Amino acid sequence: MSSLRFQALQALAAGEEKKISGYGEKKITAIFGSNVFSGRTMREYLSDEAYKSLMNSAKSGMRVDRKMADQVAAGMKAWAEGRGVTHFTHWFQPLTGVTAEKHDSFFTIKSDGSAIELFDGDALIQQEPDASSFPNGGIRATFEARGYTAWDPSSPAFIMEAGSGKTLCIPTIFIAYNGESLDYKAPLLKSIAALDKAAVDVCHFFDKNVSKVTATLGWEQEYFVIDEGLANARPDLMMCGRTLIGHSPAKGQQLEDHYFGSIPERVYAFMQDYEQEAYKLGIPLRTRHNEVAPAQFECAPIFEEVNIAVDHNTLLMDVMNKVAKRHKLKALLHEKPFAGVNGSGKHNNWSLATDTGVNLLAPGKTPRTNLMFLTFFVNTIKAVHDYADLLRGAIASANNDHRLGANEAPPAIISVYIGKYLTEVLDEVESRVKEKFSEQDEVILKLDIHKQIPELLMDNTDRNRTSPFAFTGNKFEFRAVGSSANCGSPMVVLNTIMADTLKQFKKDVDVLIEKGEKKEIAILQVLRDYISKSKKIRFEGDNYSDEWAEEAKSRGLNNFKTTPEALDAYVTDKAKQLFYNNHIFSKRELEARHDIMLEDYVKKVQIEARILGYMATNHILPAAINYQNTLIENVRGLKEVGLTNASYKAQLNLLEKISEHIQGINDNVEAMIEARKKANNTEDIHKRALLYCHEVKTYFEVIRKHADKLELVVDDKLWPIPKYRELLFMR
Ligand code: ADP
Ligand code: MG
Repeated sequence: MSSLRFQALQALAAGEEKKISGYGEKKITAIFGSNVFSGRTMREYLSDEAYKSLMNSAKSGMRVDRKMADQVAAGMKAWAEGRGVTHFTHWFQPLTGVTAEKHDSFFTIKSDGSAIELFDGDALIQQEPDASSFPNGGIRATFEARGYTAWDPSSPAFIMEAGSGKTLCIPTIFIAYNGESLDYKAPLLKSIAALDKAAVDVCHFFDKNVSKVTATLGWEQEYFVIDEGLANARPDLMMCGRTLIGHSPAKGQQLEDHYFGSIPERVYAFMQDYEQEAYKLGIPLRTRHNEVAPAQFECAPIFEEVNIAVDHNTLLMDVMNKVAKRHKLKALLHEKPFAGVNGSGKHNNWSLATDTGVNLLAPGKTPRTNLMFLTFFVNTIKAVHDYADLLRGAIASANNDHRLGANEAPPAIISVYIGKYLTEVLDEVESRVKEKFSEQDEVILKLDIHKQIPELLMDNTDRNRTSPFAFTGNKFEFRAVGSSANCGSPMVVLNTIMADTLKQFKKDVDVLIEKGEKKEIAILQVLRDYISKSKKIRFEGDNYSDEWAEEAKSRGLNNFKTTPEALDAYVTDKAKQLFYNNHIFSKRELEARHDIMLEDYVKKVQIEARILGYMATNHILPAAINYQNTLIENVRGLKEVGLTNASYKAQLNLLEKISEHIQGINDNVEAMIEARKKANNTEDIHKRALLYCHEVKTYFEVIRKHADKLELVVDDKLWPIPKYRELLFMR
């Protein structure tokens, strides 16, 4: 039997894959949101009273009362049943990194034995999934497996279609019996509330009409698409989402011909298909294009309120995985599926919007709004400066370690890029060293900023793409987030550090005002102070360069290259204080979360180590030995016909080389197993993570090197796993 590799290649050559494509006659607007219990649908299915109550709680985050919940549930059920839905589920985002669902049918049996379809307020508001199998970091002992999912009315319910099955999904938070959070969403909602409060207070310096500030998020999702058959022929891609061995192809991304090139037809069909599913779910996708690496692509939606945006991103990742199957493709959301070609990120574009329609990070047109812009702009920089380590921790994962600092993605050093003109503006504010700003200064300063706006926008087009945290005209773009990550983690940190900084800012300004300072002057003085204090986090140069690593070190900026180190930022006294003061995490929750993230790291590296050992031993070594046997046969034959040593010198060399690599693989796999045993016997999770990082993972490179060398010499026919050129260039 030929290997899976050749079966997959044959199937590919025969073009068995389906090409479903096109939107038909339909405009996107005709399907957009059709599977969402949106405002318009609510109007249709809910009483005025219930509609108002739901809208109100969506806005305020307040609970919907029981009576109203019954009405809302009835409306949702009527709407869903009209679309052929038979089941419902509480949809949540546990810390496993994938979304979770447990489906229940509307169908139930009454006490008199008759069958009915039922969905009431209780079922809508709260469920009790068997939570013992989700990560909880010791918060919830397994014997009391009680965890609750609770309805998040600020994110609309939706219908998920899978084949002919349709399920009503209720977005929920996931918490332990005592309210401690076990997911991404619960802390996110808390951080949104904290930021809202702090930002509104600061807005009132400028505009008393603002009553709500929301954080906005527009994510850009990078991913690879490869043939499913080829992916299935590789245990590493199947089990780990990335290749653990494989020699770079002769042609990689050097020619840069893939970026913005035309999208291959089969991938295009896949894109159109998942886009349609996304539109039905109300995910406002806007752009699609090729990325830098071969087989790499990107999509991005129009930005939304951060809670909805995070839900939509996790939903989309799920949809992409499902739809890819229909096309016999595999979407790889992993941060680094292939060595030697770029990895994938998920840029998080973040800003703040008021309910009066103002983007607080967009430079304004009048002096007054410009001072407001400058306030939020400088506070963001100060927040990133004060909590850079925490931001680094928020994007740490076993997957992302391959990307950060690999000279292709933002480095593990957090810095902020703001562009030439805004640097000049900040320099100018800072240079007012006089005790006080004069009225005159105030006017000049504001006008200066105002004049520079056209140039600011131009500057934006030529922006620094190497920065992990860049200002891009009207938002900050956090680029170091990993492609498979839940945006919740970085957004919780960003919202919280901003809330905390704004709270302090308000206090600092109030102190000066109480001393009799004019409001605008007081604001400028505090801003000047913040600008000088946060200066070291600003960097405009090439973040990929070695010089920057040196300079960052001399500036005292941290460069945590691995996840176990980076995660420490979550459990410092400073972090505990921050999260506690802003009502996001208790100390216990934070420690539990830290443990969960370390566990996750250990598990990922452990699985990779097992798969690598297995593939090296069961796939690579047999192929190498097989080829050696062919060579031995050949040498024996040449000898038999009377040729001299000189005529099979190449074969002998090759045999020797192959033996060296076989030995190398064998020895290192054994040593890696020993290192794993030692790590597994280490009780303390932090120490175990460090062992996996520094003693187990170190073997990956060595084993890979031997395997990749063998790939270069072993007969192609005998090589059992698809090669990079097949994975990356065949579709
Ligand atoms: P690019 O970065 O590729 O040049 P854009 O700057 O147009 O593209 O936008 C990138 C992403 O930023 C999009 O997802 C967009 O919705 C988002 N974005 C734009 N404005 C905001 C904002 N005010 N808040 C959050 N995200 C935004
Ligand atoms: Mg961008």
